[in-house]
Amino acid sequence: MLSDKLNKFVLDQKICDSDQDNNSLFIAAINGLQQGACCSRCILRFMGCTDFSLYGPSNKILEQAFDSAFPPTSKIQVPLCSVCLGTLQFAEQDEIIGPIVNVFEKKPYDTRSYCLSFTPPISVMTRERLMYFHLQQWLQTHVPELAQKWEDIITIDSKEPMRYLVSQQFTALSDRVFEPSSPLRITVVLEHAPSSDEHLFLTSTKKQLLVVRKVRKKGITKIVGTSRPVVAEALKNLEAEEARVLTTVPPVPSSEKCTVKINTLHEAGYTGGRYLKFSRECSQTPWCVRGKKLAEISVSECIVDVLQKHHQCQAVKFTTAGREDANVRMLGTGRPFYCELVDPVRPVLPAEEYAQMEAEINESSTKDVVQVRHICPIQLKDTNLIKAGEEFKRKTYQALIWVSSSVTDEMVKKCNDFGRQGFEISQHTPVRVSQRRAMMERSKQIHELSMVKVSDKEEDARFAVITMNTQAGTYIKEFVHGDLQRSLPNMASILGVEAADLLELDVTNVDLVWPPQSN
Ligand SMILES: [Zn+2]
Repeated sequence: MLSDKLNKFVLDQKICDSDQDNNSLFIAAINGLQQGACCSRCILRFMGCTDFSLYGPSNKILEQAFDSAFPPTSKIQVPLCSVCLGTLQFAEQDEIIGPIVNVFEKKPYDTRSYCLSFTPPISVMTRERLMYFHLQQWLQTHVPELAQKWEDIITIDSKEPMRYLVSQQFTALSDRVFEPSSPLRITVVLEHAPSSDEHLFLTSTKKQLLVVRKVRKKGITKIVGTSRPVVAEALKNLEAEEARVLTTVPPVPSSEKCTVKINTLHEAGYTGGRYLKFSRECSQTPWCVRGKKLAEISVSECIVDVLQKHHQCQAVKFTTAGREDANVRMLGTGRPFYCELVDPVRPVLPAEEYAQMEAEINESSTKDVVQVRHICPIQLKDTNLIKAGEEFKRKTYQALIWVSSSVTDEMVKKCNDFGRQGFEISQHTPVRVSQRRAMMERSKQIHELSMVKVSDKEEDARFAVITMNTQAGTYIKEFVHGDLQRSLPNMASILGVEAADLLELDVTNVDLVWPPQSN
């Protein structure tokens, strides 16, 4: 019997010296809370009850059990609890679970666990404090010699039994498990417009416990300085007498129910791979100036849409290991990249689906511009390899260059002899980026440099193809044309000619094991 369980709970508390005193104190408290229009579940909270199974029966059954265990002297009937405003009182009804089920129909997350958090109306904080003042006074009046003892009892936060009740239901309905550490979070936001400003009386206290400011933004006036921790602190310092002067104790009942909003968010997932870019008119990310797109298409656009569709995520954040200019091709094994999947309904896909995404990208209308390789799931920790490797990665380039005098076999031999062992160059911040970057001198390592003639034809005499393996961050264009002698040595000084210039550049390799082989 539920009423027996309630009786046993009270008996077990033993906060007074005798069972009889203990009983008298609790009966007085229950009566006082009922007089204040407190629902049965909130009464359990004020009694410090952490056995959440007692909160399980419906409000009506629980109320009957209370009446039979502790017959009330008199009772007032109000439809809505003055403290929780119905949020805990009717937590098992359709108002909360219905919208959650609806959201999961639209977003059928693969993850079979979930965690649950609640944002009750802000007025519930104030109302709980005011009800406590009412209870204190009631006990002082009805059991003056025992009233002090009630201070040993800690009121349970309404979110805890609410989480218990709603998770029980959702687990049964959805066949998912409640796990506090689940990557999938459901947030239930409860709002009660009629009481949303109730805490503002705290600005009128003698010590001004709450200080607020009005801010006008985009034509809307907002009150700032009323975050929950700030209001909680103000309520803690509020005195009962002052509360009685400035507002109503116990809090006034309301007949209007709360509105419910459900937010879901899954931890980010990560998918990695390498991309190749065959065009000299394609930037890495959409490149806009004053809202106008400069390049026709970007690498990220060719990739993210397919990933977003398969993972069913809200957004995709595209990150690469370094970058090449729009007019530089990315060939060879491709450039490592990863995508952060924001709120993915399907964070990890079956193995064959990664191959399918790869095929979709590589067979799409942009297949002559961008292709991908090795698309696979990666871990958050793997993304550090791309970020941290920035300074240490080596890159291999191939470039078509122009030389101011005809390329001779001696010149080719000179370059290859010099370049075989590798060498160090000194580069000042290039003129072309000097507006964005601090001026400084850096030394960079060219690990290898080699050169071949384009052909033996007369018209090709001033052209050559160079291949070089360099330290990350080397300015290749400047190394070739010398940047007004700000890059030394440079191609002209190595070849012993007046000038050299870079015509076309390809990246042929980015030295990074990626995606990590463990995947
Ligand atoms: Zn309540």
